Amino acid sequence: MDIPAPVRQILQRLRDRGFLAYAVGGCVRDTLLGRIPGDWDICTSALPLETEACFSDLRVIETGLKHGTVTVLLAGAPYEITTFRRDGNYLDHRRPEQVAFVSSLEEDLRRRDFTINAMALGLNGEVIDLFGGREDLDRRVIRCVGDPEQRFREDALRILRGLRFASQLEFTLEPDTAAAMERCKDLLALVSGERIYAEMTKLLVGPGAASVLERYGTILAGAFPELLPAMGFLQRHPCHNRDVWGHTVEALGYSAPEPVIRWALLLHDLGKPDCFTLDEKGTGHFYGHPRRSEELAREILGRLHPDKNTAEAICTLVLHHDDGAPVERRAVRRWIGRYGPELLEQLLEVKRADALAHADLPRTRQRYGAVLAFRDLTKQVLAEEACFTVKDLAVSGKDLLAAGVQPGPEVGRLLNLLLEDVLEDRCDNRREALLERLKDLREKGQDDAD
Ligand code: ATP
Ligand code: MG
Repeated sequence: MDIPAPVRQILQRLRDRGFLAYAVGGCVRDTLLGRIPGDWDICTSALPLETEACFSDLRVIETGLKHGTVTVLLAGAPYEITTFRRDGNYLDHRRPEQVAFVSSLEEDLRRRDFTINAMALGLNGEVIDLFGGREDLDRRVIRCVGDPEQRFREDALRILRGLRFASQLEFTLEPDTAAAMERCKDLLALVSGERIYAEMTKLLVGPGAASVLERYGTILAGAFPELLPAMGFLQRHPCHNRDVWGHTVEALGYSAPEPVIRWALLLHDLGKPDCFTLDEKGTGHFYGHPRRSEELAREILGRLHPDKNTAEAICTLVLHHDDGAPVERRAVRRWIGRYGPELLEQLLEVKRADALAHADLPRTRQRYGAVLAFRDLTKQVLAEEACFTVKDLAVSGKDLLAAGVQPGPEVGRLLNLLLEDVLEDRCDNRREALLERLKDLREKGQDDAD
């Protein structure tokens, strides 16, 4: 098996000094799967200070001495080397009270979460697999090391990690592990929002996201109780052939695997149950649901603390996911001005995936076609034009002042009028044309005042 040269060097050096040393965890799993590992973690019988002494000729960072981790920089890349350890008692369903360094690899592997993450790889390519990790890789299942319920009670984040790995690797959960997750899911409420957000984001962008949400949605409701009303909620509308949750999952599965897009799709229809009405024909409607979904999105994201721009982008996409698609170039310019090219592209993807996840009918096909046409026109306008906001005008506030406009709100008012003229094709976005137009506007303003 292929161990990168720097990892070999580190393992060799530790061995030469009389310590045990292995690559461990995710890198072993990924290598056995034929995937390229994100990073190579190393575990060793050397105590942290002994590890430091081994690599005194290199740059060493004391990453988490208390937890036994030392980072060594080799060929410009960081490698985490962690002393074999056993976790002490878990107090808050999240972190061990203390960790104890131990001399056996077996104990270190035993504390790890899933069998596929609990294998070690030695210098000669030998795989130490004490819990059936290889077999679980072959069967494509996520199984806890040890008693699953106990492991989830120790650290509830493992529930979400398990679902995240299932999504990333397109695995399923071994039944006992799944059942224990179901029993322990309420403990997810105790995990910090930041950790939930990080794991959930990885889950959502994984290739198996839709099938994990479909199969194990009720477990996720431990962290997101707002999902529950959507599950099984019938829409009573010919355009919808699935309940709100089924539609949500399907739409998410059709979308590009980008965090903001996937989060927006997860949340986009959560407000529907609260907005449900039946008309006299017995058809269901959800008037105003985007606004209610946006409220719920704000509540959920408020607990998870993603960075502010990300949260704002997700909420904007949720609020506007159902806005009608424009057909005219002039209207498209305004959408670009309102959202900017990047967010608009994401909104288009949300709308596309949402439109696709409907019953196959002439009118749903037509609506999907309208989104694609909107997307094409947006691309075309972005390629051909350059003026969508006041900032893009070929004149600035300074130019207006130089032309004699009084400083103050008048400057902004006139710039906005000029922008209107450009967006409505009444004036080219060229300096001379705009200055000429400015004269007219000011004369007109003067006339209006007289
Ligand atoms: P990734 O490729 O996403 O980094 P990974 O398996 O390397 O996946 P990490 O979070 O980097 O995941 O953790 C490294 C290893 O540490 C895991 O493979 C697992 O053995 C162990 N581990 C991490 N978090 C936990 C946990 N909460 N409980 C038990 N073991 C854990
Ligand atoms: Mg890792």
